[in-house]
Amino acid sequence: MSGDEIYSANNWRKATQLVRGGMSRSTFEETSEAMYLTSGYVYGSPEEAEAAFKGETKRYIYSRYANPTVSMFEQRLGLLEGANFCVGMASGMAAMFASIACQVKAGDRVVASRALFGSCNYVLTEQLPKYGVETILVDGTDLDQWRDALAEPTVCVFMETPSNPTLEVIDIAAVCDLAHAAGARVVVDNVFATAVLQSPLALGADIVMYSATKHIDGQGRTLGGAILFNDEKYLSDCLEPFFRHTGPSMSPFNAWVMLKGLETLGLRVERHCDNAERIVEFLKTQTAITKVLYPGLAEHPQYELAKKQMSRGGTMVSFEVEGEKDGAFQFLKALKLIDISNNLGDSKSLTTHPTTTTHQRLSEDDRLALGITPGLVRLSVGLEDVQDIIDDLAQALAVIG
Ligand SMILES: *Cc1c(COP(=O)(O)O)cnc(C)c1O
Repeated sequence: MSGDEIYSANNWRKATQLVRGGMSRSTFEETSEAMYLTSGYVYGSPEEAEAAFKGETKRYIYSRYANPTVSMFEQRLGLLEGANFCVGMASGMAAMFASIACQVKAGDRVVASRALFGSCNYVLTEQLPKYGVETILVDGTDLDQWRDALAEPTVCVFMETPSNPTLEVIDIAAVCDLAHAAGARVVVDNVFATAVLQSPLALGADIVMYSATKHIDGQGRTLGGAILFNDEKYLSDCLEPFFRHTGPSMSPFNAWVMLKGLETLGLRVERHCDNAERIVEFLKTQTAITKVLYPGLAEHPQYELAKKQMSRGGTMVSFEVEGEKDGAFQFLKALKLIDISNNLGDSKSLTTHPTTTTHQRLSEDDRLALGITPGLVRLSVGLEDVQDIIDDLAQALAVIG
C-alpha cells in the first residue's frame, strides 16, 4: 500500500486495537491518523495504471473503491469485531441495503425479525419486493416462527438485536443454526449493542452491519456505516462488485471522524451503560411509569439470553409513561436537559417518541403488535452526570397528568 507500513498487531487486546488498530503512518510520521481527502490517485506510468486495473497490483485506484483513511477505519473496526473484512459505507442504511442487495436476486427469499429500525423495515417490506425478492417478517423472539419461515430455502436472514425501540433480544446462535440449515447467510444489525457489548460473528452470524453514525461517532457529527464478515467469497462475488459500481462509499473525512470516535468507543459505551443502569433503577420507582424496557433488567422477558450474548444491558432504555400520547408529549416538553432527537448513541442524552416519529409509517396495529404504544418513550442515555439526567427525568415526570 504505497510504501506505508501498517502499524497494527492482531494480538493486541480490544482496548489497544481501538486506539491503535489499523494505524498507517505516511512518510511524515504523524502521531494522529492522516486524513486523505482525495478522490483519485496517480500512476507513474501507463503500465502501472494497466496493472492496477487488471488487478495485478494492489494499490489505491479511486476513492469509490478504497481510500487510505477509510482503510484505517475499516482495519480498526475489523480488529475490534474480530472480522477478516470490513467495508466502510456512507451511512448505516447504505450498509444495511448493500449487505442484502448485493446477494439477492428476483425470486429469492429473505426472512427477517419484525422489530426493526424504520428504514430497515422499508428496505425489507417495500424496496426489495419491488425487485421480486420475497421478504417474510417473524417475531424475532419466537424460535418456532423462525423455524417455520426457514423450512424453505432462504438466501438471507436479517435481524436486529436488541431491537429498536422495544429492546427485544433475539437468540443469535439459535437463529443462525436454523438459517444455515436453510442455506441462508445471516446479517445482524448490531447498532444497539455495539461491538463492545456483543459479537454476532462469534455467535455464528455471517455478516454484521453498523450505523457508525451512532456510538462509533458517538458525538453526533457525521454519518457512516460498515459491513463486517469473514467469508472472502461474499466479498469477491457479492459485496465488492456491488459497492464498487453502485457507490455507497464512506467519505474519508467521515472515516477520520469515526477513527477518532473508535479511540474512545470502549470508554464511552461502558459509561453509557453505567448511566443507563442507574436510570433504569430510578425509573422503576416512578409511579408515572408503567413499564421499563432494558435488556439488563431481571424482569426483561429475554434477560437470561441477553446476559448470555451481551456483556452488559446496553445504552438504550425505553419506557412507557402514563397518559398515552398526551402523557408522553407532556413529559417530552417538560424535559430541560435531555433533547428530543431521533438520533442515538450520542454523548448527549436524547429522547424520542417512536409512535409519532421513527415508527409513524407503520399502521397502528403493526405498532401495537411490536409493543410500540402511544406512551412509549425511547431514551438514548448520554454521558452527562447521571444525577443531572435523573433530576431532569424526575422533574418532567412530575408534570404528567
Ligand atoms: C440508525 C440506525 C440505522 C441506520 O443508520 P444511518 O447511519 O442513520 O443510516 C440502522 N439500524 C439501526 C438499528 C439504527 O439505529
